[in-house]
Amino acid sequence: MNGWIEARLRERLDHVRARGLWRRHRTLNGPQTPEQVVDGRPVLAFCSNDYLGLAADPRVAAAASDGLGRYGLGAGAAHLVNGHTRAHAALEEALAAFTGRPRALLFSTGYMANLGVLQTLVGRHDTVFEDRLNHASLIDAARLAGCRTRRYRHADPVHLARRLREQRTETARLVITDGVFSMDGDLAPLPELAHTARRYGAWLMVDDAHGLGVLGRHGGGSCGHFGLGMDDVPVLMGTLGKAFGTAGAFVAGSETLVEGLTQFARTYVYTTAMPATLAAAALAAVGIATRETWRREHLAALIARLGAGLERIGLSRPPGASPIQPIVLGDTGRAIAAAARLLEHGLLVPAIRPPTVPEGTARLRITLSARHTEAQVDRLVETLDRVLARMPPEHTDLNPPGGRTTR
Ligand SMILES: *Cc1c(COP(=O)(O)O)cnc(C)c1O
Repeated sequence: MNGWIEARLRERLDHVRARGLWRRHRTLNGPQTPEQVVDGRPVLAFCSNDYLGLAADPRVAAAASDGLGRYGLGAGAAHLVNGHTRAHAALEEALAAFTGRPRALLFSTGYMANLGVLQTLVGRHDTVFEDRLNHASLIDAARLAGCRTRRYRHADPVHLARRLREQRTETARLVITDGVFSMDGDLAPLPELAHTARRYGAWLMVDDAHGLGVLGRHGGGSCGHFGLGMDDVPVLMGTLGKAFGTAGAFVAGSETLVEGLTQFARTYVYTTAMPATLAAAALAAVGIATRETWRREHLAALIARLGAGLERIGLSRPPGASPIQPIVLGDTGRAIAAAARLLEHGLLVPAIRPPTVPEGTARLRITLSARHTEAQVDRLVETLDRVLARMPPEHTDLNPPGGRTTR
């Protein structure tokens, strides 16, 4: 009887192994900085989401240790019992101010925030409209909420409008998009999506995990970039583990939205509050991210330099102005082999392949951080040039030397 589960699991494992899609951990020995030691070897990494270089910032660490002294580590209870401290309250106020919305509510992770929003806002008779390339947590959120889901073509407001027209119902409709797409680095056309959503009486939710802190002069994210407020984007989700270099997430919006989430989001109600010390650290990170505009300026300079370098070596410049700069190689084996060769040269750039991205669009996903230097970006471009020039176009080596490097 129990043999069933074991046998099926082994079969699935054999299947991914045979297709060269095995995922494995790397073990990082030290802080999240561009120069790091992974699996015992020094590498230059281009794969973290620490876009502003705050994950190892000593001021953020100092705020954490101050919070630790004040509150200890464990929150000990859910927010609605007695796990909600003044540090949490201060962070929520800061995030509301940062996003220009009346309220913000903390969640332990972005994944949980997305599950919480959907289970609160939509039910069995409602419909969500999702960009085809939305993050997995948004897809799962709709499944768990039990609502109907319609996917529209990537970044295509015209197709969204058609989907909305097809679904003439009197029930709730929610349009959901990533602000910056996590595997492509392009921006959603938020003004057009907002316009379309409003026209059809739907709410727009933006998951700005990769935009907040990075886009906009003071880091206001993709909404800041386009100058959109709460009327356009009533539901804004952001994470603290990416540009803000810490961990956790939040949803910002109206009083009604936040009270609704507080009362009804099961991923808020039935889980232990994040440690207060983490909230204290995130508060410091939000302050630094807002003030230190040079981080975004330096990042923009690095993105431009990388783009120019890629063009020089005959690759196309990735579409987005975000720090996510993918090089699409198409074939999964080719992407995996390229990543392995880069690693041999001491560069850690992950190969991203199906099912994380659509079939035939395997890629190297380069991400830049404000802690990278221009010289490091130049080294990446030179190494890419050497590595890709030596690879036949239809290379399909699923077991390259140096181990697999899939995400
Ligand atoms: C990373 C990410 C999440 C999940 O956030 P976590 O805090 O890491 O759980 C959600 N949405 C998008 C678009 C992301 O990139």
